[in-house]
Amino acid sequence: MQFDVTILGSNAAIPAYNRHPSSQVVNYNGNLFLVDCGEGSQFRMQHLNVKRGRLDNIFISHLHGDHFFGLVPLLTSFNLNWREHPLNIYGPPGLKEIIDVHFKYANTVLKYDINFHPIEADAPRVIYEDNHITVETIILTHRLPTTGFLFREKPAPRKILSEKIEQYSIPYQVISDIKNGADFTTADGNVVPNVELTCDPAAPRSYAYCSDTIYTDSFTEQIKGISTLYHEATFVHEHAERAAETFHTTSTQAAKVAEAAGAGKLLIGHFSARYENLSTLHVEAKAVFPNTHLAVEGSVFEI
Ligand SMILES: [Zn+2]
Ligand SMILES: [Zn+2]
Repeated sequence: MQFDVTILGSNAAIPAYNRHPSSQVVNYNGNLFLVDCGEGSQFRMQHLNVKRGRLDNIFISHLHGDHFFGLVPLLTSFNLNWREHPLNIYGPPGLKEIIDVHFKYANTVLKYDINFHPIEADAPRVIYEDNHITVETIILTHRLPTTGFLFREKPAPRKILSEKIEQYSIPYQVISDIKNGADFTTADGNVVPNVELTCDPAAPRSYAYCSDTIYTDSFTEQIKGISTLYHEATFVHEHAERAAETFHTTSTQAAKVAEAAGAGKLLIGHFSARYENLSTLHVEAKAVFPNTHLAVEGSVFEI
């Protein structure tokens, strides 16, 4: 199954040096999930050929403008492009009012339904589930109520060994039961235990989006063993004091979170506009957590 993330915007607060406010698209097997929608996100979606018709779920972390000022324009374009299928938006309670007031004064009735799911930033909750994945909130510590999002793949069924199907003439009808752990009884009454017929499936993959937040270990337990962690790294470590004042994180601190969580890979983003060159942020993070990547516009990361 395809499971990756495309970065649409990587900057904090204001656009600078061809970097744009926060936004990214998680693709799970062709289903697209938009995580934050900073100003101009739809331009990057067009530029990067993101198939907007496959986008049915949008997650907004908090109500600072660099994380959602691109949302109403995107909703408007959906309307002008004759979208008819419903759209789910998950975000802070005030977001619905912000959306509604735009369409109220534009005298616009959308051709599609928006199902708004308010997120309370008080405790982690599963807010989305389908046959393959769940999405749960991560409680972050910032100047406004803020949540991250944790995409978890559900455990896959066990893998049946093809040579065993042949060896025991296993009929097609019982294969699904065996994948779910059942033993097999042969025609002459011998019971073949499941462990002989199957092997472990690939470990479930997971992706956590943590932005914006002060440096904290408050959610480390929740993301333990995460495959890929996106963590904001607004400042270089020299500016740690400024990071704490503004409830943001430095590159070194982001790497420490990844290390403590035992992450497979770290993506850093939400860079301050004060840095034209990102190499110090990258070098600092890699010194603590070597498998760190800059989550810049247009990059795609396998989870
Ligand atoms: Zn921000
Ligand atoms: Zn913020």
